[in-house]
Amino acid sequence: MNSMTSKTRVPRMLRGSLVTLRRRCGKPNCHCATTEQRHEAPALSYSDQGRTRVVMLAESDVAAVTAALERYRAAKAELAEQAATGLAALSERVAADRATRRKGR
Ligand SMILES: [Zn+2]
Repeated sequence: MNSMTSKTRVPRMLRGSLVTLRRRCGKPNCHCATTEQRHEAPALSYSDQGRTRVVMLAESDVAAVTAALERYRAAKAELAEQAATGLAALSERVAADRATRRKGR
């Protein structure tokens, strides 16, 4: 497991979604212990082999994490497009081969 501190630079690419966690801090005298108010903190939620995991984020990392998530989304879309183009080319070739074989008979 990689433990990431706010000092660590955010990686170029990340998968998951940005969420806001609302929680109690645990201090008995804090307003969160006696009221319905909670502390809000940004976090990255992602799934790992079917399990949802959460990485707490520093407020200062949110912009970089958002950019890294967008990079992943764009790369994934690009990859899907390449695969779709490949599939189209493959079925075209298979259909053409079949037509050629039919003519040859
Ligand atoms: Zn609190």
